[in-house]
Amino acid sequence: MGKVKKEILISKPKIDDRVQRLADEISRDYEGKELVLIGILKGAFVFMADLIRCLRIPCEVDFVRLASYGTGTVSSGNIMITKDIETPIRGRDVLIVEDIVDTGLTLYFLVDKLKEREPESLKVCVLLDKKERRKVPFEAEYVGFDIPDRFVVGYGLDFNEMYRFLPDVCVIEEN
Ligand code: 5GP
Ligand code: MG
Repeated sequence: MGKVKKEILISKPKIDDRVQRLADEISRDYEGKELVLIGILKGAFVFMADLIRCLRIPCEVDFVRLASYGTGTVSSGNIMITKDIETPIRGRDVLIVEDIVDTGLTLYFLVDKLKEREPESLKVCVLLDKKERRKVPFEAEYVGFDIPDRFVVGYGLDFNEMYRFLPDVCVIEEN
């Protein structure tokens, strides 16, 4: 990419408001329970950090790192776990936290893998959802924002490891 144009798609105040409401919903749904939150590295770390501080239920936190073969901005579908969680999840209530669902391949794979470990329940919370891009049927139980088919960065999301630090979710385009 040469010169890049940045445009705010979702501002930090809007994200804050939505994250609080997601956390309220999750706290209600899991009242009296103890959650294991599993963040997908690296993109979800900012969202995860904000989300847990808005929850009103006790939770444990762990992270998984996935890799898909092939580079660029499109998932290839050949996915593997490069860093597994360290928390046993059998019989636990588990919530996967992810920055964005696009083709659905990543979460389809991870949900399938984690189900093998027989959690009591397994749900998914994503900040962003590009529904029109699905290659496999996948629906998250908690969705922050539906967004159009544009490449976004910021609030943890990167382009070649850049822009994760931006507080807003932004669209980038080559000039
Ligand atoms: P999926 O397997 O659903 O196609 O892809 C999910 C992963 O693709 C996300 O975790 C993220 O790493 C990456 N991804 C998909 N769309 C975007 C986007 O617009 N911006 C960024 N930074 N990553 C994206
Ligand atoms: Mg990701």
